Amino acid sequence: MHPIELERRYSAHNYAPLPVVLARGQGAHLFDTDGRRYVDMMSAYSAASHGHAHPRILAALTEQARRLAVPSRAFYNDRLGPFLAELCCLTGLDVALPMNTGAEAVETAIKAVRRWGYRVKGVPRDQATIIVADGNFHGRTTTIVGFSSEPSYRDGFGPFTPGFRSVPFGDLAAVERALSAETVAVLVEPIQGEAGIIVPPADWLRGLRQICDANHVLLILDEVQSGLGRTGAWFAFQHEGIVPDGLVLGKALGGGVLPVSAFVGRRDVMDVFAPGSHGSTFGGNPLAAAVGLEALRVIADEGLVERSRTLGAHLLSRLRGLRSPALKEVRGRGLWVGAEIDPNCASAREVCERLLDKGVLSKDTHDTVVRLAPPLVISRADLDWAINRFEEVLHEVACAPHPVAA
Ligand code: PMP
Repeated sequence: MHPIELERRYSAHNYAPLPVVLARGQGAHLFDTDGRRYVDMMSAYSAASHGHAHPRILAALTEQARRLAVPSRAFYNDRLGPFLAELCCLTGLDVALPMNTGAEAVETAIKAVRRWGYRVKGVPRDQATIIVADGNFHGRTTTIVGFSSEPSYRDGFGPFTPGFRSVPFGDLAAVERALSAETVAVLVEPIQGEAGIIVPPADWLRGLRQICDANHVLLILDEVQSGLGRTGAWFAFQHEGIVPDGLVLGKALGGGVLPVSAFVGRRDVMDVFAPGSHGSTFGGNPLAAAVGLEALRVIADEGLVERSRTLGAHLLSRLRGLRSPALKEVRGRGLWVGAEIDPNCASAREVCERLLDKGVLSKDTHDTVVRLAPPLVISRADLDWAINRFEEVLHEVACAPHPVAA
């Protein structure tokens, strides 16, 4: 059976992949089963920021796999400490709790801020509320989808966990209105990724920091997608010169080869966890820790943050220079851009299918947005080549507009 048929037959249909079967990856390139080469403008939602098959990350992975992989946290291991020390040093925070996926690290943050609320702030038992933003994406667990504003993430999965209040993204006054004595935290993405690369007004994070400080509320940033260089800074919060009380990281932390995530926070927040209160069989295993540490070192040694900043500025300015009726808006920061397609011309999915035909891999989000987020190691020549293909596609769909279905 053809791989697509096989996957369709035996996989749950919770994804709608583009019709390409990938077999190999190298740097910013992906190859299909026929050996055809594509430029990756998607980087697995930031998980492949280092590029595919990075030699240093593969070396860390294979050497550590031979030595010791998963002994469990019933014992100390010689890899976890160095990894978490580096993470704390980079973020300016005190303590980290390692998990595997982004959603697990978000759940860890939720547990931490609730317990902090009861034990430190003095919120009455089971009354804690967390303020979140409309359009958020923090993962797929039942608690997390319960405070999503996206019907397709929620439908049929209730009943949901109480204790969340959602306000418009980027709106400081709405956060102030939503505050109560029971508010323990504000949990947001600095730039909303899955919502379509939505960039908030300047100074919004600084404003959130002030509101949280004034009200004894924790500021928790989900930088699972925006962190580790994606926006042209190590962490998006650095653009505004603030430090959160807790930070959620994932995706690129695994160097493109493993699920590695962490909740990093101030000591008084993390101190609410005692043995038995939280954990994960795989979280903090030495294989993940060795890969995670190497992933951080590669970003530093290869200047990937600076690369994201300069190539990202180039990407944004080239896209903003494209004069096409099919392109309504371009937004983003660093090598992380959302291109809003006019639905009168084409769906974002159609744009992605046409890009695929030309050898560029990307993914639509929310019907109208094409994300352009290559591995941070991409060469300027490959980036320009992909932008040229995007320009061609815009030209094709703008020349043949079709009405939107009513
Ligand atoms: N938070 C953010 C901001 C994300 O973008 C994502 C994944 N797209 C997650 C959390 C969830 O990560 P995971 O899929 O690894 O659970």
